[in-house]
Amino acid sequence: MSRTAALAADAVPVAERFRIMQYARLTAGVLVLAVYAFARQTLLPDHGVIVTWTLGYLAVTVGVEVLVRLLPKRTLLLLSGMLMIDGIWLAWAAYLTGGTTSPVRYMMLIHLGAVCLIASYRTGIKLAVWDSLLLFTIRNAIAGKVLVETAPPRLVYGNPDQRLAIFVVMLWLVAISTSTLSAINERELRRRRGDLESLTQLAEQIERTDDPSSVARTMLDAAVSTFDFPRGIVLASSEGDLPLLASFGLSEQTARRPGRPGVSVVIAEAQDSKATLLVRGLDPVADPWLARLLPGARNLVVVPLFAEGRPLGALVVEHDGGARIERRVVSGLERSASYAALALRNAWLLEQVQRLAATDGLTKIANRRTFEAALDREVARATRSAERVSLVMVDIDNFKLLNDTHGHQAGDEVLRNVAAALSCECRDFDTAARYGGEEFAVILPGCGPEEAYDIAERLRVAVSLAASVVPITASAGVSTYPSHAQDADTLVRAADEALYASKHAGRNRTSLAVGLPMMAPVDALLRRAAD
Ligand code: GH3
Ligand code: MG
Ligand code: MG
Repeated sequence: MSRTAALAADAVPVAERFRIMQYARLTAGVLVLAVYAFARQTLLPDHGVIVTWTLGYLAVTVGVEVLVRLLPKRTLLLLSGMLMIDGIWLAWAAYLTGGTTSPVRYMMLIHLGAVCLIASYRTGIKLAVWDSLLLFTIRNAIAGKVLVETAPPRLVYGNPDQRLAIFVVMLWLVAISTSTLSAINERELRRRRGDLESLTQLAEQIERTDDPSSVARTMLDAAVSTFDFPRGIVLASSEGDLPLLASFGLSEQTARRPGRPGVSVVIAEAQDSKATLLVRGLDPVADPWLARLLPGARNLVVVPLFAEGRPLGALVVEHDGGARIERRVVSGLERSASYAALALRNAWLLEQVQRLAATDGLTKIANRRTFEAALDREVARATRSAERVSLVMVDIDNFKLLNDTHGHQAGDEVLRNVAAALSCECRDFDTAARYGGEEFAVILPGCGPEEAYDIAERLRVAVSLAASVVPITASAGVSTYPSHAQDADTLVRAADEALYASKHAGRNRTSLAVGLPMMAPVDALLRRAAD
């Protein structure tokens, strides 16, 4: 089966098309019998034969029906065979009922049209060849006196040959017009199916992505590959500005350094009208952000992105097929945009949830859970690469007093300021976290005890300089892996004990953990890792 036929077969299953044809056959057979029963006098003397032929035809139809049920895999073969039998019966019934003047011939036209539409236009053309052959064979048999002339002696128009020629021309007209129409239908169906398939594919791909950039990239790639756009961008965010999330066909420099996100007049217009906008060209003065990303753009399609009624941004593609754009392309873009917009919204929500789960609600720095995961990671990394990692625990001195004197809200404000001061003082790869209450922890990868001690002192000073209702001080404890601990837990415990030592010694100071009894084996471990 050819690809086209396979697609047509997919559109309406073979078995179903066969069933439709079978009903049509039964109807046609019964119709011929009814014409015989009620209009006998208009038929020719040996009209009795038509009944026998029609009953025979109906019997074959039922027989083939039985065969289809017994051999469902042969349905296509039986369908084709039955079409040839249809042709023979119709041609013969036409001959018996008046030859070139028979009304049965119009049934041949209907049959041909139906086959073109129900099977495929190729099958229709083959049937037209078959029908023509049958008609000419019968005509030749009459001319050669093998068959008798059945056309009534009183002719309505032309001679039998002319009537035959006219009928065959009509037959071909039906075949060609129906085939052309069905070919157009078929092409349209295939295109729609292609569009639907790419939408399904997009949905599947988006399901596998969970960050906003990948969602935008996937949507843009799908749009560009389906409709062949030379350039395209996705501008969207959950905050209302329009950063570049994904791009296609931009210069490498623009794609890598798009510049500060701005607003866009055309995107705002598309969002206001909640409809796709076709833009002939961009005004660099009115729309500098878009004009910078797509310099010299012509014929842009601006599809606004909405999720639950809220505007998120837009998908903008450049269309190189002139000012006109097919409705099918626009609705294809709109469908994928609306799907991707929901996925974008979900990806942002997921990011937000992950951020919330990782940070402390009051101070917005890492929470205890994130701290523990980061410490495990850093200790494992230090073990692998025979490096050191230090931990500083910082606790605000007499914080309860501050709370009791100035109230919890003032206390909260101090906690926020202290957290900001600690984050500011950290290097990019350090982790500052709220360990609990007014106690903070800072992980210092790659730092030995001396360096960590210096940093802890800096952190302590930074805390004392943080804005507060009353001047505050803090105490700190420092421990280093593997000098003072053999894992993350003992590292925390060592820093805590050092912190306690600072408190015990009068607060407002930093203490270094003392070497644990297991220091010797730990150092041996470090040496082994270094080897
Ligand atoms: P020390 O110098 O020994 O650390 O004394 P301290 O008062 O700082 O320590 P203590 O453990 O006695 O009290 C800690 C206080 O921190 C008690 C609690 O009211 C306060 N605190 C804990 N969490 C929060 C918070 O989220 N907001 C505010 N405002 N206060 C908090
Ligand atoms: Mg305290
Ligand atoms: Mg405390």
